[in-house]
Amino acid sequence: MNTSAEHIREQVDPVQYIGQYVPLKRSGAWFTGKCPFHNDRTPSFAVHVAKKRWSCFAACNTGGDVIAFAMKYHAWDFKTTCRELSVWANLDTTAAPSRKAAQDPQTEAFSEPPPMDWQHRAESIIQRAEQVLWSDRGETVLGYLLNERGLHEETIRAARLGFVPAASPEDAMYGRVIYPDWRKDDGKPRRVPCGITIPHFAEGALWGVKVRRLSGSPKYLAIDGSRPTLYGADQVIPGWRVLITEGEFDALIVQQIERTQYVDISGVSLGSASHKHLNRRWWKYLQSAPEVLVRVDNDPAGQTAAAELQSLSRSIKVIQVPTGKDLNDFYLAVGGLKAADWLEAQFSTEV
Ligand SMILES: [Zn+2]
Repeated sequence: MNTSAEHIREQVDPVQYIGQYVPLKRSGAWFTGKCPFHNDRTPSFAVHVAKKRWSCFAACNTGGDVIAFAMKYHAWDFKTTCRELSVWANLDTTAAPSRKAAQDPQTEAFSEPPPMDWQHRAESIIQRAEQVLWSDRGETVLGYLLNERGLHEETIRAARLGFVPAASPEDAMYGRVIYPDWRKDDGKPRRVPCGITIPHFAEGALWGVKVRRLSGSPKYLAIDGSRPTLYGADQVIPGWRVLITEGEFDALIVQQIERTQYVDISGVSLGSASHKHLNRRWWKYLQSAPEVLVRVDNDPAGQTAAAELQSLSRSIKVIQVPTGKDLNDFYLAVGGLKAADWLEAQFSTEV
């Protein structure tokens, strides 16, 4: 990245950039809001439109340009900040983009749900899978969700989980069902993995369908054409605390605890540790939360995902369950009430 700091200061509108993280209101030559760097009760934070500088007139008694803001807010170094701001503002650079910068436009391209035709097809697969799950053919799988994942029937229904069984011995061998009348762009028939279907809905659209396979590796696949979302984004209540989990079943347990034990905590999931890059599209759902925690698996992929999230906001804390490998294990071991108490205790803020 070759963009000079001077070029960034000229091109990046600090009101727009800072406004993503700090709600700002116009007040003459300034935009004002609550300072994100200290516990601000009155709006003592201001961005000067013409001067393109921000200041905190209270506890911090400091300020600077948009680069200084981004460095302080994200705890990035200077180089990272310049790169991130260039990508954010689409500042063209002559130098070969860095790997990370090259990934970002792709992430941005996924900020729309899949085409309507895809959504209709996937919706019919989900509906069929739901019917199967609640029929005799789904008995074993339903038992797994209830007894090994700790999900209540209401939780399973609300999340619209389902089951795609093998339709033939060949399907069973390859772990997929072929849909000859639903072709991919390359003309080949689509293959839907056999297993537990986990639809990702957000903002009234179907963004994707994950499938938790009963056997084989990798354990999770998605129906081809799915796009990344923040799973549970629709369930986030503004002003509530948020726990980001690695898997969807963990997030469903948090939502179940919220419903049954009345804790003001929203559960969301990245879908997988590999979707560690939470783009601005979904980040906005977490901005009004007084506190955000993350629980990922204790493995390299999980750690990388946690680090990526912390680069968005350094106030995101990583927690681990005291026993078991994930929240579902822990929930099954101690029960809903104790799990709720433990969850409450992880947050330092009360709602
Ligand atoms: Zn301040």
